[in-house]
Amino acid sequence: MNDEKPPRAFHLMAKPTGSVCNLACRYCFYLCKDTLYPDSHFRMTDELLESYIRQLIESHPTNEVTVSWQGGEPTLMGLDFYQRSVEIQKKYQTPHMKVQNTFQTNGVLLDNEWCEFFHKHDFLVGLSLDGPQKYHDAYRTDKRGSPTFERVQRGARLLAKHHVKFNVLTAVHAANVDYPLEVYRFLRDDIDTQFIQFIPIVEIEKKLGKHRTYTVSGRSVNAKSYGRFLTTIFDEWVRKDVGCVFIQSFDVALEKWFGAPPSLCIFAPHCGTAPIMEHNGDVYACDHFVETKYLLGNITQTPITALITSETLDKFGQEKKDRLPQYCRDCDVLFACNGECPKNRFIQAPDGEAGLNYLCEGYQLFFHHINRPMRIMAELLSRNAAPASIMKVLREEDLSRAFAKAKRNELCPCNSGRKFKHCHGKK
Ligand code: SF4
Ligand code: SF4
Repeated sequence: MNDEKPPRAFHLMAKPTGSVCNLACRYCFYLCKDTLYPDSHFRMTDELLESYIRQLIESHPTNEVTVSWQGGEPTLMGLDFYQRSVEIQKKYQTPHMKVQNTFQTNGVLLDNEWCEFFHKHDFLVGLSLDGPQKYHDAYRTDKRGSPTFERVQRGARLLAKHHVKFNVLTAVHAANVDYPLEVYRFLRDDIDTQFIQFIPIVEIEKKLGKHRTYTVSGRSVNAKSYGRFLTTIFDEWVRKDVGCVFIQSFDVALEKWFGAPPSLCIFAPHCGTAPIMEHNGDVYACDHFVETKYLLGNITQTPITALITSETLDKFGQEKKDRLPQYCRDCDVLFACNGECPKNRFIQAPDGEAGLNYLCEGYQLFFHHINRPMRIMAELLSRNAAPASIMKVLREEDLSRAFAKAKRNELCPCNSGRKFKHCHGKK
């Protein structure tokens, strides 16, 4: 690669406060990254802001540019910073260009002013919320160890009140993994969100012996439980909510079954599509690999285009595929899973080879479970029909199974309120 021609569209997620956050969630992997910048104030300067926006817009050969803000906690920069950012975007964007801002936040600092701004400038906001209070507060605490649920829920209500487009990012961990329907129904019905992302928490705790095997923290999900979490929610979603609620892992799976390129790096064959930029302009290969070894350069010294097309990023991307263990290469759901994220590849495969994904058992369960409904939805899509039609197909199948089991004097499974013998069981 390395010919400095940028890909048609790319994401470069910016962290204007670096790792600085107003909370101290117990599973956060990013708080410790402040050690990379011991003398920093962790605030992106206006000069860098302008350079970032200008380069991002100029290096996109398409008419759609995404400006992604993340943290740490990006609201700590203050609203003025993003007002200036929008002004700068207007200064550089071409007449037909659409600039979409995305903004990932813990939600505790949101107020009417923030939400009016988000709505006015059509920001797509991601809100971190781990389900009902008892699950959310298990690990999402502030620096004093106090719970945050009520403040986040208030943020969610403000976003809804101001008609801000928002999705919910839910970390799945030891405290909520066994309560999939409670979590899902809370997000769907109480928070009233249509867009949900589930992120499994996997924290390596310590290395054991001379082999490359590790233990995980008590907060981490168990692989099989994570698989059950996804399949249980899938079963409810595929019968009731297709086309109304959008769950990222299900949407990406459908892309796979349909044969479209995946829009989420963890299930893509290669990495390298999700680099991040620290508060000082340093660009790293991925949010999960913010380490000196994966530093691509700084946008004040090297153009973004050159960083995005660098051999280092290319090599990082290719390694995801090259380092797949044989067990994955022989796997019948490799096309959907692709060995998931390399950061989780630290267990041994059954044949003893190192580098299998810790979540493998869960993904095998999930991808096998969804195979038939995914095939049906992909087939509907290929006929230009709505995938939501699957709900009718499954409802009819469920009903015929229930009719086959129903007793004559029981209520009819069709919910008519009549006895089975007077309804669908009539001879
Ligand atoms: S390392 Fe994981 S998160 Fe990073 S680009 Fe690869 S799959 Fe995505
Ligand atoms: S399900 Fe397991 S074996 Fe199959 S590709 Fe994923 S990690 Fe590899």
